[in-house]
Amino acid sequence: MYKKIYLKPGKDAGIKRFHPWIFSGAIARTDKDVNEGELVEVVDHEGKVLGVGHFQFSTISVRLLTFKHEAIDCEFWTERLAQALEVRRSLGLMRNDNEAFRLVHGEGDGLPGLIIDVYRNTAVVQAHSVGMHRARHDIANALMQLMPQELENVYYKSDKTLPFMEEIDAESGYLFGGNADSVAKEYGLQFQIDWVKGQKTGFFIDQRENRRLLEQYAEGRKVLNMFCYTGGFSVYALRGGAKEVHSVDSSERAIEITNGNVELNFPGCSNHYAYAEDAFKFLSTMDGSYDLIVLDPPAFAKHRGAIHNALKGYTRLNAMAFEKIKPGGLLFTFSCSQAVSKDQFRLAVFTAAAQSKRFVRILHQLHQPADHPVSIYHPEGEYLKGLVLYVE
Ligand code: SAH
Repeated sequence: MYKKIYLKPGKDAGIKRFHPWIFSGAIARTDKDVNEGELVEVVDHEGKVLGVGHFQFSTISVRLLTFKHEAIDCEFWTERLAQALEVRRSLGLMRNDNEAFRLVHGEGDGLPGLIIDVYRNTAVVQAHSVGMHRARHDIANALMQLMPQELENVYYKSDKTLPFMEEIDAESGYLFGGNADSVAKEYGLQFQIDWVKGQKTGFFIDQRENRRLLEQYAEGRKVLNMFCYTGGFSVYALRGGAKEVHSVDSSERAIEITNGNVELNFPGCSNHYAYAEDAFKFLSTMDGSYDLIVLDPPAFAKHRGAIHNALKGYTRLNAMAFEKIKPGGLLFTFSCSQAVSKDQFRLAVFTAAAQSKRFVRILHQLHQPADHPVSIYHPEGEYLKGLVLYVE
């Protein structure tokens, strides 16, 4: 059916445990002229087909889509996306007051290399592998077929997520529709979402449940939302009755979007201020009046080699917050670096706490929400971790 990738003897243990990646070191040989992004059959040293996936010239050479010997055709995409949709429906995330959710979370949904976020009637499709890039039209067609009532637009955004861009023409743009309204509700709050120019698919859906938790603690507090991006935590804090909310991000554009989202939900709001400033600079010069601080930095470690420096960064950042937070204050601190484990992150925060010599209690241990599921066979899919700390 497809060209073949032959594994070395003994290198089939991972695939037999349904791990979806084949590393280049496991491959004995390949059929001639296998192209980047092409569908391939993975075969053990005895010639048995173990699965079918997308081939790529990188350390992860094959991303498996199935552990059966089957065709990856329109029917396959429709079926796999239908399963993902069924999970989101059962989570109760598709409601009148909640229009933003992740429909496909890569390996967690059996679709390595593919992310799909839905914002009201627009699906934003992001390919992280060349194979998914090549399949984008089949994916978009399957989406429109599955969600005819819900979807009007499919926006493809992969200009920053694919390797070898010059060769594959990964231009972003609409595959369906185009006249999209870019405001979507999350738990009743409205957010302007810029999937065309914004970071990732335009919004960080993965913090939804953590923002809602913060809302419950916000009443009467002076809140600092550090690394605010679109102002998600700030808007929830305002709804939760915060006395005052300050949002900080180094990007001017993020500050504009944050101000826009505050205005959209609380027109004329007079207790929110946003600053375009570097986090470390802001933290070193701020006073000690905040009693709820959010630290949600970008991934400090984008790969394993960067872990050591990333941990130092997390320690330094958190130490600054511990030093300044008001007694009785709450710190919501996060790491979204996949390469940094939950334990490593906790150790970095522990070190920061110890440096500040304050007594710190862990109140909550946070993670990514249910629409960002982790395949039990692919623990690497767990990336977002957070702690809510009470600082005496
Ligand atoms: N908390 C946000 C997501 C944060 S994404 C939410 O809930 O949606 C990380 C943000 O950190 C980005 O907006 C980026 O512009 C900002 N950022 C990166 N480096 C920074 C720095 N040194 N100081 C302040 N902000 C920074």
